[in-house]
Amino acid sequence: MNPFVYVALPSRVVFDAPAGEALPKEIERLGCRGAMLLSTPEQASAAAGMAQKLGPLAVGVFSGAAMHTPVAVTDIAVDQVRAAKADCLVAIGGGSTIGLAKAIALRTDLPQIAIPTTYAGSEVTPIIGQTENGQKTTQRSLKVLPEVVIYDVDLTLTLPVGLAITSGMNAVAHAVEALYAQDANPVITMLAERGIAALTQALPVLAHAARNRKARADALFGAWACGTCLGAVGMSLHHKLCHVLGGSFDLPHSETHTIILPHVAAALLPGLPEVRAILARALHAEDPAKKLFDIPASLGAKMALRDIGMPREGIERAAGQVFQARYWMPADVSETSLRALLDNAWHGRQPVTNPEFADA
Ligand code: NAD
Repeated sequence: MNPFVYVALPSRVVFDAPAGEALPKEIERLGCRGAMLLSTPEQASAAAGMAQKLGPLAVGVFSGAAMHTPVAVTDIAVDQVRAAKADCLVAIGGGSTIGLAKAIALRTDLPQIAIPTTYAGSEVTPIIGQTENGQKTTQRSLKVLPEVVIYDVDLTLTLPVGLAITSGMNAVAHAVEALYAQDANPVITMLAERGIAALTQALPVLAHAARNRKARADALFGAWACGTCLGAVGMSLHHKLCHVLGGSFDLPHSETHTIILPHVAAALLPGLPEVRAILARALHAEDPAKKLFDIPASLGAKMALRDIGMPREGIERAAGQVFQARYWMPADVSETSLRALLDNAWHGRQPVTNPEFADA
């Protein structure tokens, strides 16, 4: 056993409970009396329905959450939270809504209860990304970690299959990168393996039976496990690439993660035999990078950056930006290899386990 440091984050997780029943108890458990419910415009009726169930424990609903947590939206929401004298926040939705709750908590110190309805995993991380003047900046702070997470499987049954696949692969990416993190540790490695296995086994089932409750529960468990990995250890090449691509070309978040992950795995795994072995076990696959491509591809996900809005001339710029950025790398990858990786991903080709990608 190698030496390690492990920090457990203070998050209370209530798994597979009807949110309508668990939420009032959790609000009262926090010592709160008036919640502001948050959602995107698309999930406004879910938030309004929950507010109705809460009765006097709900003091308002704000349904303006948007992707990448725009500061302008947060400012409006904070004004409403203060006007309503809310003493806690309830986020019902995916990473966008949970991001808004985190942004409000950062400014007000109010406690948060997250009710995630996608697999992005933001609810168990102390990380927040905010966008202002076209620039996304990310920071870590325990102030933004939701105090309570209620996972209600029934609320995920409506998550469209396409989004479930890409959101699930987004979560898998957190766990894959946790396996070779600079601060990797055995607790998180165990969780990563369980999370990757749970999600990659559940996604093919729910792709063909969207309301299969067991598959949805397994996927949601996987999302919690993988999200916990993201919150606990630092990320690497994959997240850096997705951050640069998302920020530079305004690409959709989970779709970008889905496309990039197999190529990064092919680039790094030749230099990381222990990680490769864990992934082979979790994925039941001789070639983990190929399996990470085949799962979403066979379930209908877009596998080419060109199909989600990336201009071809962006490859050069993104490769240069990522190559020059400072972040943890478990193995060296040259700028030429990064360009080749992005070129493969742009075309939607199978990942290439090019030995040059692992020039460590
Ligand atoms: P999202 O929250 O943007 O949701 C996508 C769409 O799906 C929205 O319209 C939403 O209302 C709808 N939706 C969500 N759940 C649904 C359901 N069950 N049924 C029907 N519709 C549903 O998507 P996301 O991928 O969860 O989140 C992406 C955002 O989260 C990005 O901004 C990303 O940066 C952020 N994120 C942050 C972290 C972190 O740790 N800070 C981690 C992962 C993602």
